[in-house]
Order: sequence, then C-alpha cells, then structure tokens
Amino acid sequence: MSTKENRVTEIISRCSALFEDLEFGAVKKWKAAAPGRKAIGYMPVYVPHEIVHAAGMLPVGIFGGGDQLEVIQGDAYYQSYICRIPRSTVELGLTGRLDCLDGMLFPSTCDVIRNLSGMWQIMFKNKYVRYVDVPQDYDDAVGGQFYIHEMQQIREDLGKLAGRPVTDEALRASIVVYNAHRKAIRDLYAYRAAKPWQAPTAEVYLLLRAGCVLPPEEHTRLVHDYLAACETQQRPKRDNARVVVTGPFCEQPPLGLIKSIEMSGCYIVDDEFMLAFRWLMDEVEETGDPMQALSKAFLHRSAQSSSKYDARKEDKGRFLLHQVKSRGAEGVVFAAPSFCDPALLERPMLQEILARHKIPYTAFKYAENTGQMAPIREQAGTFADSIKLWSAA
Ligand code: SF4
Repeated sequence: MSTKENRVTEIISRCSALFEDLEFGAVKKWKAAAPGRKAIGYMPVYVPHEIVHAAGMLPVGIFGGGDQLEVIQGDAYYQSYICRIPRSTVELGLTGRLDCLDGMLFPSTCDVIRNLSGMWQIMFKNKYVRYVDVPQDYDDAVGGQFYIHEMQQIREDLGKLAGRPVTDEALRASIVVYNAHRKAIRDLYAYRAAKPWQAPTAEVYLLLRAGCVLPPEEHTRLVHDYLAACETQQRPKRDNARVVVTGPFCEQPPLGLIKSIEMSGCYIVDDEFMLAFRWLMDEVEETGDPMQALSKAFLHRSAQSSSKYDARKEDKGRFLLHQVKSRGAEGVVFAAPSFCDPALLERPMLQEILARHKIPYTAFKYAENTGQMAPIREQAGTFADSIKLWSAA
C-alpha cells in the first residue's frame, strides 16, 4: 500500500475512533485547549449551528449510543416500543458521558424529542436546556418572524452562558465558516454519486460522524483531505445498483447495516444520514442581517425531508425525487428506525409518488443496535438483483 493509500485508511481510522468514543474525548480535548470553552449538544435533525459557533462554543451532535452502549437506566424512561435513541441518550446522560456538555438543544423533530427535552430539564437542572421550535409556515412574515424570535432567544441564552453577547459580526463570520462546511459536504456527496466505488458509504458515513465532535473548520479540512486522498487510489468498480437511502435522519443504523447494504450489491448515491450538515441546501447570505439570512435559508432552501413538517402537498416527495434523478439512482431503500413517526407516516405517500414515477423501492425498519444483518443483506441484495434484471429487460 502506498503512502497516499494509507492516507484514506488514516483518515477513516481517525473518524472510526471518534465515532466509537462514547466518552467524547475529542470534545473534552477541545474544551481543555483554552480556559472557559463551552460545548453545546444538539439532537437530530437540525439546529442553527452558526449561533452556537458564534458564541464561541462547540456544537456537538448527539446521535444516540449506537450498538456498543448497553442501555440499562434509559429503558426505565420510555416504553419498550419507542425508538431507541431517546433511551440511549438518557443512558449517556445518566452515566456521566455527557458531563462535558454545558447545554443541550432539542429540535422539534418529533414528540419523543420534545418529551426528552422536558425530561432533560428535570434530570440535569444545572445545565442549559432548550427545546428549539421551528416554523411550520413558510411565509417570511409569519413563520420567518417566529423562527427569528426563536433563534434570538437561543442567541441571548448562549450570550449569557458565554458571558458576552453574540454579535451580528460573529454570526456573519460563523455563516462563512458553515457555508464552507456545507460546500465541502456537497462536494463529498457529489463525488460519491459520481464514483461510489471510490468513496464507499461506510467511509463517507464515518467521515460525517466525525463532524459531530470536531469544530466545523477542522471537519471541512478533513473532508477535503479525504476527497484528495480518494483520488490517489483506484478501487474496483462493480456493477452495483445505484440507490438512495431515505429515512435515517434521526436514530442512526449501526455501521454494520450500512456495510450490509453496500455488500449486497448496492451503491448508496444519496441518503439522509447526518442531514444536519445538509439541511440548508446552499449558501446562506453572508452579508446583511444574519438572523434574516438564516431564517430565509430555512424557509426557502432547506431539505424537504420527512423530518420537516410541511403541509404543502405539491412539495411532497420533491426532495426524494430530486435525490433520485440528480444522482442517477435506480431505486430507493426506505430505512427507518422502528416507531419513527416522521419517517413512517410519510412513507406510504412517498412510495405512492415513486410508484407513479416507476421508481422501484424496498423498505425495512431498524434500531441503532440491530444485530441481525443477514435478513437486511438478503433483502437489499434481492432488490439490487431485481433492479439489474428490470433495467436489462
Ligand atoms: S427516531 Fe424518529 S421517533 Fe425516534 S426520536 Fe428520532 S425522529 Fe423521533
């Protein structure tokens, strides 16, 4: 193996170590590097990271405990049929693993996360906790005003926590940082769609997860490094079916499940993993009023995922169809956490739209600690085979 090939392995090994570290060592290290630094956790899917960053704090993505964490205390807080992420997050909190966080933001993804924010306030009374409401109306004068008010509250809260107000100038600087980060992630997705054999999704996923605990500037550089390193080696190209994986925007599947889909003969060319980094789909305005700019990006240029409430019927499925068409996908894999209301409620509507456009799909559910990969590998493999048979017909 040449040194350049080693670079891909090196980057992915580092990301893998960050992913497996449920003690959040990278966050502790960042905080220890300068006195008074603070870190703020956020649950999936999206919160305005720019405000946290502009307050001089590290935004930390908390995406559950994965398949390595044994959930003991967390199970007592939720019914057994509820998805696993709230239970494993409670476990992380009660076992002291999240003590390095100075606060938590709970976006209004669903009722489970809403309830978790209330429980967090009771369980961790000395920490900053905020439920982040987002607009369900997409008019600047209505939903926009509401969202700006909501963001302003976070801005003031974090300013108090930091001991200095979050200025417009700091916010504009953070928008510039996150625009660069979003661009790097868009480049990564475009590269994988163009050459999925060169950038397998198991690697792309680990790279994305590293962004949960690294500062955005460092993560942007890491993504660029990975893309450059990928180009220095040629990996075998297979006759796989190109698929979009939709649904895993909150509780994440185990890494083994992602690998199983790929090993079954599918190239994942778009997905909803770590949607937080791609929620705002293009550049946020870098000049003018930063709160207006963030609001307009959310209202008019954000991912039309099932995790976002939007009553406008004409928009339903538009995002998924765009993913399929722009990436040259041949089919869709619906992969949702068990019990996930937002993903499972929209699934029939999305399937109907795909059927109308003659786009094949398959569907399954998972939990973050799903251990039985063989059935999923068989299902995804059969799906890939059927795509290849249909397209050859
Ligand atoms: S997995 Fe689905 S139901 Fe569970 S907390 Fe996340 S969005 Fe809510």
